[in-house]
Amino acid sequence: MWSSPGRVNLIGEHTDYNDGFVLPLAIPHRTAAAVAPNGEGVLRVTSTFADEPVVVALEDLPTFFPTRRESIVEWARYPIGVAWALHEAAPGAVAAHATGLDIAIASNVPVGAGLSSSAAIEGAVAVALNDLWHLGLDRPALARAGRRAENEAVGAPTGIMDQMASILGAADAAILLDCRSLEVEVVDLGFDAAGLTLLVIDTRVQHSHASGGYGERRASCEAGAAALGVASLRDLGVADLARAGRELDDVTFRRVRHVVTENQRVLDTVRMLRADGPRSIGDLLVASHASMRDDFEISVPELDTAVDAALEAGALGARMTGGGFGGAAIALVDRDRVATVADTVTTAFARSGFAGPTIFAVSAAEGARRES
Ligand code: ADP
Ligand code: MG
Repeated sequence: MWSSPGRVNLIGEHTDYNDGFVLPLAIPHRTAAAVAPNGEGVLRVTSTFADEPVVVALEDLPTFFPTRRESIVEWARYPIGVAWALHEAAPGAVAAHATGLDIAIASNVPVGAGLSSSAAIEGAVAVALNDLWHLGLDRPALARAGRRAENEAVGAPTGIMDQMASILGAADAAILLDCRSLEVEVVDLGFDAAGLTLLVIDTRVQHSHASGGYGERRASCEAGAAALGVASLRDLGVADLARAGRELDDVTFRRVRHVVTENQRVLDTVRMLRADGPRSIGDLLVASHASMRDDFEISVPELDTAVDAALEAGALGARMTGGGFGGAAIALVDRDRVATVADTVTTAFARSGFAGPTIFAVSAAEGARRES
């Protein structure tokens, strides 16, 4: 049995596919893959989430995506997509060592909540197949295979953050990831020692990254970078925003401004955590949320209500987390104010006529691993 966790992003949203910086942490919620050889030359995948197993012959794997994607149900494109992406990454090793496997998946990562159940399933399957098929791929290579599954097998144009966080997560620490070089630094959080709790407020508004706004935002970023003559928005600093304002239309400019200022906020958060500790980062979280709400326009009323109510009840900082259009917010809260913040958020949701949120604490957890 192998497992890989969900994640929350402390700060750095929609910066990953712009070659920028992100600061996620793996959470205690995990997806497990129990895997056994079946001697049948097929991958047979089941999930607690579905009635029917999905079966794909190993000999069909190399050409399965994208041509035959439609022949299997969407959830199975994640695990089968990982097997396909591993073949793409290491065709010789897969051809030499791949054997038929039964793969059973179970998870307690909330799905579609912005906590990356998709990276958790990808990570669990990637580490399992890497071990059982003796592929010898390192962890960043497994993360890249997960991302390829998500991008090309599923068709969700997401960046590399989620897979890196799920696979490389560390206890009591966040992962500073440079999405251009894939260099990783472990950044101690010290929330517990400072008397702080990180709350997740799952709005239960479902999102899907395979459709709609996520791809549009990505296209705007690419258009902005092209118009400004840079390879990616990573290459711009806050000092370049005046020129961007003169040269871009208003919408593209605001998308660019979010990414450029968000990259700076990630670096500032790391600096503040190291210099002054976790109580100092609240304002950066709040500024990040405002930028996503006003400039990138990926928040929804439920997320704004969660953030506003948490701050009103004394949270040090709060922001939506994940790709947006639903999902979850996080709030950094003094331990003795957790109940007050949770009550205030729940009451605010009821007053607005929203479905009740699910609120829980998370600590930073270890990344992908073999369980038994
Ligand atoms: P998020 O990653 O924020 O939870 P996504 O839309 O990116 O949301 O991924 C959710 C999708 O991942 C689900 O709709 C399903 O297709 C797949 N998935 C996640 N967890 C599982 C699981 N335990 N079993 C089967 N499929 C899963
Ligand atoms: Mg996802």
